[in-house]
Amino acid sequence: MSLRTFLQECRAKGEVLEVHEPLSPRYEIAAIVKALDGGPLLAFTNVEGHPGFTVISNLCNRDRLLRALGASDVADAYRRLLSAAERPSEPVVRSSGPEAEEVVMERPDLAKLPILTHYEGDAGPYITSAVISARSSDGRVENVSVHRLLVLGRDRMAIRLVPRHLYRLWQEAREEGRDLPVAISIGVHPAVILASTTPVPFGVSEFSVANTLLNGRLELVECENGARAPAHAEIIMEAVIKADEMAPEGPLVDITGTHDVVRQQPVVRVQRILMRERPYYHAILPAGVEHRLLMGFPREAEIWRAVSKVVPRVLAVNLTVGGCGWLHAVVAIEKNVDGDAKNAIMAAFAAHPSLKHVVVVDPDIDVYDPEQVEWAIATRFQADKDLVVVRNVRGSSLDPSADQATGLTTKLGLDATVPLGRDRKAFQRAGIPISERVEALLRRLRA
Ligand code: MN
Repeated sequence: MSLRTFLQECRAKGEVLEVHEPLSPRYEIAAIVKALDGGPLLAFTNVEGHPGFTVISNLCNRDRLLRALGASDVADAYRRLLSAAERPSEPVVRSSGPEAEEVVMERPDLAKLPILTHYEGDAGPYITSAVISARSSDGRVENVSVHRLLVLGRDRMAIRLVPRHLYRLWQEAREEGRDLPVAISIGVHPAVILASTTPVPFGVSEFSVANTLLNGRLELVECENGARAPAHAEIIMEAVIKADEMAPEGPLVDITGTHDVVRQQPVVRVQRILMRERPYYHAILPAGVEHRLLMGFPREAEIWRAVSKVVPRVLAVNLTVGGCGWLHAVVAIEKNVDGDAKNAIMAAFAAHPSLKHVVVVDPDIDVYDPEQVEWAIATRFQADKDLVVVRNVRGSSLDPSADQATGLTTKLGLDATVPLGRDRKAFQRAGIPISERVEALLRRLRA
């Protein structure tokens, strides 16, 4: 399963907006992606200085993500993702080379790629859709994850490595006195990106999660340096994360829409770049809907599962756009007893440690509509009874308001559900009956 098959499906549905006007990769493309955030899939065919490349962005909004997973609704998508994480399956490894063998740059030059500079104040051009895979020296452990990469020179980049799985493989390589070989893939099927942002234990390859998600249709190739990449990727970079070379990384706007601080981070040296002819380069706008969704969706699934264990039914979970797709959740539940909503709050915090504020609502509230959520808080919430405050807990390193030295934060949960003892009618939004002729008239007035 490739990016190209997915693009074809989106084209057939009329969801692709092609932009043929000349645009610079410095700010101009990012400005358009931001202005049309969450809308059509954008394809920029005329990137100044980069003939032959098509930059695509906004590959995923919620609807397209569900389609990429072959899911009928959001609960089905959560179920598929969670079950893929529990039942990973080893992908087929192709003996012949990848599609990206069509153009091979033996002397890599990153300036040849249409890498975007996004925001004012960013340190430079950043690759934002890189699926990076590495293996332990005995080949037993593989990890696949998405990392931002700052271009430093012709074949050098700085990589942001939070102390998770790839970091651990890099540390192990350093202890063995060697650089860590990696494959950096750009332009893959959205299910591959989503699998690589799904939390699975160290030792489980996210490629195997992606393979289950794609019903066993992921194909891999082994690169010359031993790392593996999806055979259908548009661009594959063979590279190493240097054992002993560090560089300043940042500032860059991350998921919160604010600039992340500058840190000393490892340097990546690119050995070879393989590309398809007329490749698609996938650019994810930092803090855009696509970024928040690809990062947040697997966490929504975790919250959905955890809350489902403590209340009779979870109807929907939304890591909201305003909450950076990461820090705020709205959860709609059915409850048996009044304490259920508070248990739902605690389960949500446990399922997603970065979560900071959570609102629990009744099934009649649309979790995707911020106005309805605020209305539920306005009419169904009493702060002295319905508020949960948890002090001094670990939160997200991305939240600028958290204690920057300790990472500690305060979490807040709001039970905005109707108390069970009360007459529900008093809490219902009143409607107005709509006759057939009013409906017809309204259609005309709105057209
Ligand atoms: Mn991992």
